[in-house]
Amino acid sequence: MLLINIFIFIFGTFLGSFLNVCIYRLPRNISIINPRSFCPHCNNTIYFYDNIPIISFLILRAKCRYCNKKISFRYPLVEFISGIVLLFLYLKFGIGLDFFKYLFLFYFLIVVSFIDIDFHAIPNYLCFLGILIGIIFSIFETANFLSHNFYFNFWKLPIVRDIKNLIFGFGFVYLFKFFGDSFLEIYLSFSKKDSIEGERESLGLGDVDFMGLVGLFLGIESVILVFFIAPFFAVIYGIFAIIFKRSHLIPYLPYLSLAVVVVFFYKTQILSLLRLYIGG
Ligand SMILES: [Zn+2]
Repeated sequence: MLLINIFIFIFGTFLGSFLNVCIYRLPRNISIINPRSFCPHCNNTIYFYDNIPIISFLILRAKCRYCNKKISFRYPLVEFISGIVLLFLYLKFGIGLDFFKYLFLFYFLIVVSFIDIDFHAIPNYLCFLGILIGIIFSIFETANFLSHNFYFNFWKLPIVRDIKNLIFGFGFVYLFKFFGDSFLEIYLSFSKKDSIEGERESLGLGDVDFMGLVGLFLGIESVILVFFIAPFFAVIYGIFAIIFKRSHLIPYLPYLSLAVVVVFFYKTQILSLLRLYIGG
């Protein structure tokens, strides 16, 4: 049993190695299949023995074999997280539809978060692709549902429920974006100064797409919770950014992703705390 778990973790680190490739190449429009892995500094091909997740990083002491430039700590970090995620989902769900669905979701979160950290934006097609794959999972779930339920309520069909949640995710966040942008517009016109670093939007449209995806995968309650929890993470970073005088343009997807993880694990607890407070 332990051996299987270790094997699954290691397999996850290899998947993480592929996620690293996606994080680097997708925003740069390089194919994720060709060419083989290369050092971003000297472009030398990295052979398999230097490309073993986590291990190679340690053996090479975080330096490229050819040019001696530093290899970012992020590579083994992403590999490690990917291994943990795979093992966790396997232990929680076993191998099945839920396992693959949430594996996709979590790996998607990793990829978009790190791209957003580097570029303060993600390629437009990524969320669209994520939503498309979410709908395919939903179709599978619906087929499975229909094969077990001869009589059914239309609104209880997984695909109907999921599309409804997707639309809610879009709409909910878009509404906030609309009011946020209007407020920003009014504020900037009154203060008669141009926005610092040129921001004119309270939320990017990418955030709206992303929250649609959250609705599709996790449901309406999660959309609302994620939306209100994410700013806490962002504020913590914001304080850090002010102290260390970093750019105050905050990539927002990492915080939304962190909030998704928190909500995925603690949704029931958060909701019952809220109910306790309301007195329901
Ligand atoms: Zn190199």
